[in-house]
Amino acid sequence: MKRIGILTSGGDAAGMNAAVRAIARSAMNAGLEAYGINYGYKGLVEGNIFKMESTKLDEIVNRGGTILYSARYPEFAEKETQLKGIEVLNKFGIEALVVIGGDGSYHGAEKLTMHGFNSIGVPGTIDNDIPGTDFTIGFDTAANVATEALDRINDTATSHQRVFVVEVMGRGAGDIALWSGIAAAADAIVIPEREYDIEAIANKLTENRKNGKDHGLIVVAEGVMTAAEFKEKLDQYGDFDSRAVTLAHVQRGGVPTTKDRVLAARLGDYAIQLLLEGKGGLAIGIHDNKLVATDIIDTLENHKHQTDVSLLDLNDRIRF
Ligand code: ATP
Repeated sequence: MKRIGILTSGGDAAGMNAAVRAIARSAMNAGLEAYGINYGYKGLVEGNIFKMESTKLDEIVNRGGTILYSARYPEFAEKETQLKGIEVLNKFGIEALVVIGGDGSYHGAEKLTMHGFNSIGVPGTIDNDIPGTDFTIGFDTAANVATEALDRINDTATSHQRVFVVEVMGRGAGDIALWSGIAAAADAIVIPEREYDIEAIANKLTENRKNGKDHGLIVVAEGVMTAAEFKEKLDQYGDFDSRAVTLAHVQRGGVPTTKDRVLAARLGDYAIQLLLEGKGGLAIGIHDNKLVATDIIDTLENHKHQTDVSLLDLNDRIRF
């Protein structure tokens, strides 16, 4: 093998650049050429591809977003478009593709693998919702951003004796809500993986007031409902001076944490080591702090990300 391609796809996540650097550098140091593909699968099909230079890589390690850009390109779900992508890869002499992205992006890599093109998925999404790994690149940074925002909101909630309902990202997975909610001492965390009872939450806030805590913090994952909708429902069960806040895209950007950068370095390098061993068609990840590689087709077709919902019970045991 002489030449590998790298693309980032789906929602951007802090640490994607650190992964790009690790993949490209590890490949170059092993004597391979690394080609960057701009704008995800869209750029792949359009041939927006360039040879990466080793000298330009170290300066991207602390940058959020992705220097390879990202794009939503639903057309790539069609077989014809996937085959066109393989044609372009062949034209550039690229023999293996490393895809950094979330669940949808993994499906693209899976399809390329099914058509015989060696592809490896590196988990890069703030949602932490990919099967085959305990953690995804970008989750730690996003959870830290959310925690910092919740800390700030707690300050004003305390000063004004208000209840804040804060919506964090997570369409299908409540990981950001759980981790930031526990870290910021939330009174309730509402996630898509578990039924919730607004009346019980409201009663708890009322009881808290009687017992000496006159402000509140509720963290809601976006997959459940919006902060505004939750606030409206909550207000039906009590006389709260409540406010709704949506953190939205601030959770995507910013300087990646050390943890995300090191995870990106480990996973990116691992992808190349596996390719050098002649392996491929894999989803790589981290499990119990060890690098793991699983068949990408089996991983996507037969496994689901398991959110650690025991964290919800933990929060119930340690909250006010
Ligand atoms: P995130 O969840 O963090 O936003 P993601 O990778 O899940 O990341 P998606 O928008 O779902 O984001 O997918 C990214 C891209 O992957 C799509 O725009 C499309 O090009 C490709 N893709 C998604 N689903 C499929 C599929 N079933 N088959 C082939 N390609 C797909």
